[in-house]
Amino acid sequence: MSKVYFLPFEKFDRIEIFLKELEIFNIFEKGEKIALKIHFGNSNHNNHILPEYLIPLINLLKEKGLSLFLTDTNVLYRGERDDTFSHLELAYKKGYGNLGVPILIAGGLNCDDEFEIEIEGKHFRKLYFAKEFKEFDGLIALSHFKGHIIAGIGGTIKNIGMGCASRRGKFAMHSNISPKVNISICKGCGKCVSECLFSAIELVNKKSFINEKKCKGCAWCIHVCPYGAIDIPWSSVSPAEFQEKLVEYAYGIKNLYKEKFIAINFLINISSDCDCISNPGKILSENIGLCVSTDPVSIDKFSVEIVKEKNGYDVFLNYRPDINYEHQFNYAEKIGFGSINYELITY
Ligand code: SF4
Ligand code: SF4
Repeated sequence: MSKVYFLPFEKFDRIEIFLKELEIFNIFEKGEKIALKIHFGNSNHNNHILPEYLIPLINLLKEKGLSLFLTDTNVLYRGERDDTFSHLELAYKKGYGNLGVPILIAGGLNCDDEFEIEIEGKHFRKLYFAKEFKEFDGLIALSHFKGHIIAGIGGTIKNIGMGCASRRGKFAMHSNISPKVNISICKGCGKCVSECLFSAIELVNKKSFINEKKCKGCAWCIHVCPYGAIDIPWSSVSPAEFQEKLVEYAYGIKNLYKEKFIAINFLINISSDCDCISNPGKILSENIGLCVSTDPVSIDKFSVEIVKEKNGYDVFLNYRPDINYEHQFNYAEKIGFGSINYELITY
């Protein structure tokens, strides 16, 4: 059974001692390159994991002689994290540059520098991740635990499944079809036509037209259209299917690191929506604490259970009654990824 270590929020001043006493950090060896996979937040709010929360962890890892990188990938949709320059600007503006750890936006400038992992999944035979994740010796997933518009909740599974994927991988999780052109917005400028590497776009009656048979789903056209006329067809994937796809990606990247993987969930500012959204909705729960595990499934399962216990009801299901977020745990167990049963060790 996996172990989940829990530090309640009222003991946050002892975070350094808590982390030092966890033997699981001994899995890393001096000199190894370790990615700290994080989300650098949003200009409009501070719900994400603030840099100051990371100082005790970074001190501990540096004492162990590890080479650290704070890292994330560019997002699929348009926004301040959809290209490397604005993404880095945001990270520095939010104070992550003051932690003495290099910041690396993985996947090259366009999040298309990728590598493949093969799996025998229900949805995927090939998974696509940002190239640098192949070069790290280990991964520590730092996840802000909160609600999510499609998956119901967002924790470690979401952070590593979606967050380590390349642009193509992200699109494959979000959609089963090609990007969608909104012809009322399209100005017929032709930029998407010249930028599509697969010659899948042409102008028809001065409007962009995507040939589904030629489209490879790289999602580059969404990024390059200067008018935001190309978008993800959000409704092409159901919440259950989205969760299964996330799990397959999370399974793939976790397996890459084998035992050199640790997940840390921060149960603070538990919002209804993810940090990507400029208005992240309501705060659904008081601050609860922090938990650590080597099992992405156990840690997310514990996170939902403790939020439920502290509030006396299921705040996530109450907020989105149509989304059965438990599906991701059941699917993960079914494919042999992690365990919904865990041993809890409370500090
Ligand atoms: S780049 Fe955008 S505006 Fe220009 S043709 Fe393509 S979809 Fe239309
Ligand atoms: S997703 Fe990629 S391959 Fe498909 S139309 Fe857009 S740029 Fe071309």
